[in-house]
Amino acid sequence: MTEKQVKTNHSPTPLSEEELTYLFYNASTEDLSAMGKKVCTEVHGRDVLLRGLLEYTNYCVSNCLYCGIRRDNPNVHRYRIKETMLLEAVQAGFDKGIRTFVIQGGEDPLYNTQRICNLIEAIKMQTNGEAAVTLSCGMRSKQEYQDMVHAGADRYLIRFETSDPALHAYLRDGKTLKDRLQALEDTREAGFQTGSGFMLGLPGETVETRLKNILLCQRLELDMVGIGPFIPHPETPLKDVVQHPIEDSIRGVALLRLALPETHIPATTAAGTLQSDGREKMIDAGANVLMPNITQTDFKKDYLLYPGKICLDESGIQCIGCLSSRVKPLDRELSFSRGDAPRITRMRR
Ligand code: SAH
Ligand code: SF4
Repeated sequence: MTEKQVKTNHSPTPLSEEELTYLFYNASTEDLSAMGKKVCTEVHGRDVLLRGLLEYTNYCVSNCLYCGIRRDNPNVHRYRIKETMLLEAVQAGFDKGIRTFVIQGGEDPLYNTQRICNLIEAIKMQTNGEAAVTLSCGMRSKQEYQDMVHAGADRYLIRFETSDPALHAYLRDGKTLKDRLQALEDTREAGFQTGSGFMLGLPGETVETRLKNILLCQRLELDMVGIGPFIPHPETPLKDVVQHPIEDSIRGVALLRLALPETHIPATTAAGTLQSDGREKMIDAGANVLMPNITQTDFKKDYLLYPGKICLDESGIQCIGCLSSRVKPLDRELSFSRGDAPRITRMRR
């Protein structure tokens, strides 16, 4: 196949596995970005959707080798934000126009599913049912996902991290890729809009793994895909891994956009941490979501999945202003809509 034969971006039809494979191995990052950007604007226009991120707890019973807040890191100053404070942050974000809140944290047994359900109900009540709630609270049982949907939650994020089963089990303390993918299916069957994704530059990952990550996202027909560079944390067993350049993350976003034209793809904070214009490059390659961190600043510095996290001293409100000025030169505009998956929006019509 030649580059010309690949049915590029004149229609938002997803590219086939064969076409994606060809581009993965042959296209320049510049060409891929231009193709991803074109498909993104055809499907999503100039809008960049905003999601307000709340890092509600950094306690975690899991011990993923890559993560700075893993159970066995004794240096983490642990915190668990009370519901009243979370609701204050939600109100501040809502007053500024945010209509999606992402509740993310470690796997914290004290923030059990009943407590999360009560929080979801309180957010829905406080925002007159207008705001969407996305959860990223780790692996739970199918019944628990159903309870969360019942309480009103809309979306769930569980990255599969890497599509290589052996590497997955090594990095996640013996937990299997199969179980992670089953959890993702459980969230879908429970009624959530589903999100997943992966990191790039993990030790032991091959070029082929990177392609397989993208193809797996397409096969899973995800509503949301978040990817970003793995950034080694000095207090983890992976501290000596050499940092991989950001380019694979940019290429990954572009290929994902060609694989899944309708999917919501964030320009992730990890990309902005590794390179100051990392998020802008992701948007220019086909990403259409930004996630200002609206957690109270007192806590942000202790939620370090990776070192060097940006915007630690800025309030969520300052973050929105900064993001607005960052997307303008890209001829894009922040959107304050809920930003549901297009398949859901069509169903509601
Ligand atoms: N505990 C939940 C959610 C919080 S972790 C979970 O694990 O699903 C959110 C994401 O942060 C993870 O899915 C992982 O992809 C990413 N992450 C963790 N450590 C990282 C690191 N060192 N560099 C880049 N991303 C990291
Ligand atoms: Fe816990 Fe998530 Fe970090 Fe794993 S990645 S240690 S589950 S917070």
